[in-house]
Amino acid sequence: MTASPRPFLALTPDELVERVVELGGRPFHAKVAREALFSGARTYEEMTSLSATLREALGANLPLLSSELRHTTRASDGATKLLLGFPTRDEGSDEVETVHIPPHNPKSPKGATLCVSTQVGCPVACPFCASGLAGLVRNLEAHEVLEQFLRGMEIGPIGRAVVMGIGEPLLNYESVRTALDVVNAELGIGTRKVTLSTVGFPDRVRAVAPTKPPFQLAISLHTPFDEERDVLVPAMKGVPIEDVLSAGDEWFRETHREVTYEYVLLGGHNDTPHHAAELGRRLRGRRATVNLIPWNPLTRAPGDEPLPSYRRPRAEVVAGFQEDVQSLGTVTTVRWSRGLESDAACGQLRLHSS
Ligand code: SAH
Repeated sequence: MTASPRPFLALTPDELVERVVELGGRPFHAKVAREALFSGARTYEEMTSLSATLREALGANLPLLSSELRHTTRASDGATKLLLGFPTRDEGSDEVETVHIPPHNPKSPKGATLCVSTQVGCPVACPFCASGLAGLVRNLEAHEVLEQFLRGMEIGPIGRAVVMGIGEPLLNYESVRTALDVVNAELGIGTRKVTLSTVGFPDRVRAVAPTKPPFQLAISLHTPFDEERDVLVPAMKGVPIEDVLSAGDEWFRETHREVTYEYVLLGGHNDTPHHAAELGRRLRGRRATVNLIPWNPLTRAPGDEPLPSYRRPRAEVVAGFQEDVQSLGTVTTVRWSRGLESDAACGQLRLHSS
């Protein structure tokens, strides 16, 4: 293992001051440089308010970012998917995906949505998801989560973020929280503009709720039946759905922000009227909404593994499911994924490059 130098972004503000002073600068130069980085500078040469000597010393000793841009794909709808390589701790390659999704209306002042990853691989192992097929490699560090925002801003301005890329954010919460606090305070992306998606470990949801989290919560439910969820979300095996929902209720009481329940629709599997009725029954009277996600077919599995044999339901089935849940009193939306043709579905670019 070769230790790569800790990049600028990995240092706390105090550590950064110390390093800048060591390299011949004044304490306030640290803040100047950090602001320049967050406003788009990608080399020290661009930070012209620092002296040439300091810029040179920083350039030689303190790399600004640590990722390498390995691949960029652009879908016809404008979504740009980045494959980023972070320094590897051991064998294998530490690659994650970050997707920049422009607003539907290009003139909208809202800016794009950025989808960020939180782990290299994922330990949850949902059988329909590309990210979990090869298991977890490692957690991303806080600066690696944050760096994805800076890479995304190189494509265009960002107004919203979804923590819905590769990984389970509540299993790497400390780093994710550190990064999102910076996104909130220094990139100015407000609490209501950031959504974190999790399989919803009840104890963790309850622990985070009172800490003024700078994001909205989405919980991946995928079925209203316990035995079926044990299979669809293996890391939650044995955790009753009712416990997940009651943690979601507590989230609402603490934060006054409604939980969104995500539900991947797998054709002929969890999209039946029976499922819709039970989902509606479970959510009746709760302050929550449902987001239906028609399954995105995977085009490639790691190694020699077979592709999962699910299918995307027909549009009429999706509409019927939505109507059934709505008729029981829960607001329900549908998210047809964008950028499908360029492997923009979760975790797939990483598999293609390997
Ligand atoms: N670990 C987090 C983040 C995962 S990605 C979580 O499970 O919530 C965000 C959402 O995309 C999750 O609901 C996940 O189940 C879903 N997803 C994963 N693969 C998908 C696919 N191929 N098609 C549609 N949705 C998918």
